[in-house]
Amino acid sequence: MDFELGEEQRDFFSAVVEFASREIDPGLEDREKAGGFSRELWEKCAEFGIQGLPFPVEHGGQGADVLTTALAMEGLGLACRDNGLLFSLNAHMWSAAMPVSRFGDESQKQRYLRGLCDGSLIGVQGMTEPGSGSDAFALETTAELRGDGYILNGSKTFITNAPVADVFVVFATLDRSKGWAGLSAFIVEKGYPGLTVGKPVEKMGLKTSPMGDLFFDDCEVPAENLLGRAGSGMVIFQHSIDWERSLILANSVGAVQRQLNAAVEYGKEREQFGQSIGSFQAVSHRLADVHVRLEAARLLLYRLAWKWDNGKVTPADTSLVKLFLSENLVESTLSAMKTFGGSGYLVETGIERDLRDALASRIYSGTSDIQRSVIARDLGL
Ligand SMILES: Cc1cc2nc3c(=O)[nH]c(=O)nc-3n(C[C@H](O)[C@H](O)[C@H](O)COP(=O)(O)OP(=O)(O)OC[C@H]3O[C@@H](n4cnc5c(N)ncnc54)[C@H](O)[C@@H]3O)c2cc1C
Repeated sequence: MDFELGEEQRDFFSAVVEFASREIDPGLEDREKAGGFSRELWEKCAEFGIQGLPFPVEHGGQGADVLTTALAMEGLGLACRDNGLLFSLNAHMWSAAMPVSRFGDESQKQRYLRGLCDGSLIGVQGMTEPGSGSDAFALETTAELRGDGYILNGSKTFITNAPVADVFVVFATLDRSKGWAGLSAFIVEKGYPGLTVGKPVEKMGLKTSPMGDLFFDDCEVPAENLLGRAGSGMVIFQHSIDWERSLILANSVGAVQRQLNAAVEYGKEREQFGQSIGSFQAVSHRLADVHVRLEAARLLLYRLAWKWDNGKVTPADTSLVKLFLSENLVESTLSAMKTFGGSGYLVETGIERDLRDALASRIYSGTSDIQRSVIARDLGL
């Protein structure tokens, strides 16, 4: 077993960190106050090659292996405090570009994957509905083959990027009596007749990542925009959710490292009772615990990336990583807040933003309860 990163991977990680701190971190406070998504930063990320990282070179991607991709996302989390922007990037890459890359035909890849890699298109997935969240396959949006296209009716909710997205991978049922076997996936463009994108919804955190609902009212989707085969929706969803659960929190490993670095510095500098607070065991042990959990999170992430690169991933592997990284992110952010005392509660320190952003990670891509259920099922329970 070799735990050493290659020189090229280390150099790339440094380049990502340098890019993120110079290009996409500055100005976060203003963007957050305005509640704004920045297309300019999106394009900068694409120019650097982020959106295309794991996708084939022939379709505009970088052809990076999964470990290198995970390292890049970690580097972004370390040097960029804009968790909303990173969340939007992740949603785009794993829930839209990945299914098009894996299940799209050549013409779909030329039309969509290229643009999803080069930053000219923003994508996301529409799965969740008002009546089906954790029970995702109970969705009610229908698709009907009519003439030379499909007609979609229904609605989707909590859709990341929706207000700014150009392309949606939407799941709908062709036959409700068949349950999950009746599900199909469609590539829907924002201008299609019958599609309405709701107003941006206000949420607790991830303020620079817009979210909205989708409404399909006899929405006309050309037949060639069926993704994969009719009835293969469940397989497509499982594939993309496995990718999403694996990598959507890779940036959290960098973010927790960033928080730990700052907390250690503060622990050395801040004095109470005539000594640095880091010399109190209550403080130093708390940070030691953060360090231990961070190392575990990093190893789990890298091992999962290795599994992807070697074709050994199971859904339980991805749930395990998603569960541990999200819970670790929340715990570590709380630890950072405790270490900083009253200053940690101030907006200017940025920890409260990290906390608001972190809490969402226990919900999106399947709640922590659902991840535990997947892991328990794998144990035979
Ligand atoms: C920031 C954010 C971004 C999102 N982006 C997208 C997106 O881009 N596209 C998209 O399609 N969706 C998106 N979602 C939706 C997300 O996938 C759902 O919110 C999530 O799956 C939970 O569904 P729900 O909100 O309906 O909660 P519910 O399913 O109603 O769950 C409510 C509570 O019940 C618990 N529960 C439910 N069923 C079980 C069970 N079987 N066992 C144990 N506990 C259970 C849950 O754990 C939770 O605590 C996003 C959500 C958030 C918060």
